[in-house]
Amino acid sequence: MSCLFCRIVSGDIPASKVYEDDDVIAFNDINPQAPLHVLAIPKRHISTLNDLVDGDDAIVGKLVRAAAAIAGEKGLAERGYRTVFNCNAEAGQTVFHIHLHLLAGRRLGWPPG
Ligand code: 5GP
Ligand code: ZN
Repeated sequence: MSCLFCRIVSGDIPASKVYEDDDVIAFNDINPQAPLHVLAIPKRHISTLNDLVDGDDAIVGKLVRAAAAIAGEKGLAERGYRTVFNCNAEAGQTVFHIHLHLLAGRRLGWPPG
């Protein structure tokens, strides 16, 4: 199994988990870009947003709901937070297993770089 995030799902590579259910795990980013920087991923491998199909609507919703819940648990929901999926090269996707970034705890610039 060569996918880095599949290896985190299997426990082969350790991660600092903040949430887990049957379909989703969320863990702290190894190179945080904000005081809170969590990645929410499906346990099932999906390479990019371009690979999503009709049957994936629920898992995408679960990722978004997990991110919102984590922001709430950390007390950052009212201040605000950003969720981002990067897709492919020009957006800066480096790990080809979809992941929703949750960033919070500082003022975030817009537009993004
Ligand atoms: P991307 O650039 O693909 O949107 O985001 C990949 C993210 O995964 C980056 O923010 C990067 O810091 C994070 N990352 C890469 N390798 C690891 C790892 O082994 N563990 C964790 N927790 N995060 C990782
Ligand atoms: Zn994977």
